[in-house]
Amino acid sequence: MSGKHVVVLGAGVAGLSTALYLRREGLSVTVLDPLPAGSGASFGNAGMISPDSVVPIALPGMLRKVPHWLLDPMGPLRVNTRHLPRALPWLLRWIRCGTMPRATRTSDALAALHRHSFACWAELLGPSGMDEFIRRQGQIHVWESHRVSAAEQAERRLRERHGVRSQVLDAQQLRRMFPGIANSVVRGLLLPDNGHTIDSSRLVQRLGELLRAAGGRIVAERALKLVPTESGRWTVLSHVDNHAADSVVVATGAAAPDLLRPLRLRLPLAAERGYHIALCDARLQLERPIVFKSRGVAMSPNGGGLRVSGTVEIDAHDAPPDERRARYLENHLRQAFPDAGGAVSRLWMGSRPSTPDSLPLLGAVAAHPGLFLCVGHGHFGMTGGPPSARLVAAAVTGKPPIIDPTPYSIARPGR
Ligand SMILES: Cc1cc2nc3c(=O)[nH]c(=O)nc-3n(C[C@H](O)[C@H](O)[C@H](O)COP(=O)(O)OP(=O)(O)OC[C@H]3O[C@@H](n4cnc5c(N)ncnc54)[C@H](O)[C@@H]3O)c2cc1C
Repeated sequence: MSGKHVVVLGAGVAGLSTALYLRREGLSVTVLDPLPAGSGASFGNAGMISPDSVVPIALPGMLRKVPHWLLDPMGPLRVNTRHLPRALPWLLRWIRCGTMPRATRTSDALAALHRHSFACWAELLGPSGMDEFIRRQGQIHVWESHRVSAAEQAERRLRERHGVRSQVLDAQQLRRMFPGIANSVVRGLLLPDNGHTIDSSRLVQRLGELLRAAGGRIVAERALKLVPTESGRWTVLSHVDNHAADSVVVATGAAAPDLLRPLRLRLPLAAERGYHIALCDARLQLERPIVFKSRGVAMSPNGGGLRVSGTVEIDAHDAPPDERRARYLENHLRQAFPDAGGAVSRLWMGSRPSTPDSLPLLGAVAAHPGLFLCVGHGHFGMTGGPPSARLVAAAVTGKPPIIDPTPYSIARPGR
């Protein structure tokens, strides 16, 4: 493969991890992105790296919660009604994925991929990068009700199925761990084998720095069209240039469907837009992320301050942000930690590139030799991005994959 040129589209966690793996295999690699490395969804996530993420988003019992969520302006879900006709096929598929047999199959595939998360981050970053950016101190989930919903029961079964270690925490233990947490919090769960990054955006930028140091190129261009050539290669037309490539890897996150439409490829991807607020000078100092399950909100130390992130908004990925969704996150913070203090220093919105079954789309596109995908990581890109990149790099170079790639194929059974 050495001497072959690969163009990777997108400089988020998925694209840069893939580019770095490919460069280390001796390929010539160019990454195209109009924005600086780590400026998409990879910029503003909660930073949780969760090898024990074995629970897909569509679960039994979830559908029953949807009307309540939609009626609550501060609730975890909003669907823009004007976007509904476009989103409906995706939403119907999402509903079909919420049966226990389907969720169990998906869970097995998530577990197989996410299991390799820390090992792949370590391969990419090396020991000093791991020490600088990644903490393996677990994550805490908390609930504000003793009632166990059908979805939570399903989560428990899936975690048990995969032998995920966890420790139940009562209200007193939680108050010792998080002095000042609201009295409404009555129970929690420690997932000790998960972790987090202390800075999502810097972490992804580091991948870019490592790529450049290894001889890869990152150019500030937007890919407009992928054109197969008669000689079996590709030309990528960007807004200012043309790039010849033996292979192209599409890792453009939620923008991937637009780019692939001219090739008659219809990806089952929706933009699940999420928001965060960053706080400066907060009295609340967290050592590890805490997820308020009933609110659908995560609070984590990220980017040198406190970050509160969450909510799902189904809308076009390039529609303007609704800053009220971000402001509601501050209400959640003040209710959960009344003495948190601090001032909001940034409102942010980004699009999770999500498939209905929560599994990414990875590897070769059979109808277009030389075209590969690394998209669709939804809620789990900081976890699944690096192991996915390793799988995609193996598909490009023809090396044996670390795990069976079938469940993540664009042509996977049941898709
Ligand atoms: C609020 C929120 C919280 C989250 N929390 C977590 C978490 O705690 N843990 C976790 O694992 N995941 C989390 N996620 C999900 C995670 O952020 C995403 O799955 C991941 O960042 C997706 O990475 P990506 O590289 O596929 O996409 P992106 O990071 O969006 O990168 C895509 C890149 O493609 C570029 N691009 C687009 N179009 C073109 C084009 N035509 N040509 C060239 N380049 C193009 C964009 O500029 C962008 O830089 C969260 C997401 C959100 C929104």
